[in-house]
Amino acid sequence: MVDPRVYEVMSKPIVSHLDPFLFEVMAEISAWLKPVFGTANEFTLAVSGTGTAGMEAAVSNFVEPGSKFAVFTNGYFCDRIAEMGRRHGANTVELKAEWGNVYDPDQARDFIKREKPNVVAFVHAETSTGAFNDPGPICEAAREVGAFVIADCVTSLGTMPINLDAVGIDCAYSGTQKGLGAPPGLSPITVSPKAMEWIKNRKSVNPSWYFDFNLLSGYFGTTRRYHHTAPITMFYALREALALLHDEGLEPRLERHRRNQRAFVAGAEAMGLKMRVAAPHRLMALNTPEVPEGIDDLKARKHMLNNYNIEISGGLGSLLGKVFRIGVMGVSSTKENVLLVLETLEEALREQGYKAPASGKAAAEKTYA
Ligand SMILES: *Cc1c(COP(=O)(O)O)cnc(C)c1O
Repeated sequence: MVDPRVYEVMSKPIVSHLDPFLFEVMAEISAWLKPVFGTANEFTLAVSGTGTAGMEAAVSNFVEPGSKFAVFTNGYFCDRIAEMGRRHGANTVELKAEWGNVYDPDQARDFIKREKPNVVAFVHAETSTGAFNDPGPICEAAREVGAFVIADCVTSLGTMPINLDAVGIDCAYSGTQKGLGAPPGLSPITVSPKAMEWIKNRKSVNPSWYFDFNLLSGYFGTTRRYHHTAPITMFYALREALALLHDEGLEPRLERHRRNQRAFVAGAEAMGLKMRVAAPHRLMALNTPEVPEGIDDLKARKHMLNNYNIEISGGLGSLLGKVFRIGVMGVSSTKENVLLVLETLEEALREQGYKAPASGKAAAEKTYA
């Protein structure tokens, strides 16, 4: 959901893409994004386009034809990163793990040391499976072989700690419509000074003109040269979403997500649902309870949508029909929503003859008490 304050700023007058006021808005966006990413990177801005635009921007700037690109693939979105690497002509190698599982840290380290890639990419919070990938071992091994690290933080930004600089991620991107609670349309992105220096001097020209960080620097940097017409309204929206985050405080916001996630899981488990992802590797914004035996997940989801106007998602790829994907993120991460989703999900399952051993709503309520 989108906060009313964000909707409101989206009706404000449009200025030009070179108006000093817009550059003030952009500067505030950059300043407020940094603590959320956990970085001091000067190159911290929002590229035009959705989360996938950030992904393509990252891949196109870091990957050159023939360079070695190592991708950790255990879900839908990391498969997309690997496919982009191939399209940009990289020698793309993958370490696969089953969807819903995470990597063994030793395997992750061995993979990087064996392949000696130029660039490594992984998905921090894999929205397709609900699994969190620990950047620690990946960044550590990448540093040893001198590889740059790209992290997809689309669902983790504003819902989980990122600590980009501390952990050693060179580039991270996100989207406006997940944890930040704005409409889709911009992709916050940040790049380390060391990586920017490399990009400035890279031998081959980035085949993507629109996402070339060297050209984007001219627009967002001090020269303020026209590059493209920024979607002004979306910059207002992102600024307001970040102002909301700033007002709440990052730590209280992350704690709110933790509390509501804990309550959701307690409720789902009380209802007899098994969580697909093991407890230490779960996301705080996206839950994947398994669909019980004999239940048609689409029918259950339709019941919630048609009767209560609540949309939850189904599984993707190898998890199709096997899990529900229930987002509790951004503005939507509230106690009221958690209880309402549990209550209506229980009803949707009961419609199909499912007997919950206990009330999910009651179990969740207990965690708040
Ligand atoms: C949603 C998502 C994307 C893609 O973002 P779009 O806004 O749909 O382009 C990429 N990675 C992850 C982890 C996501 O959740």
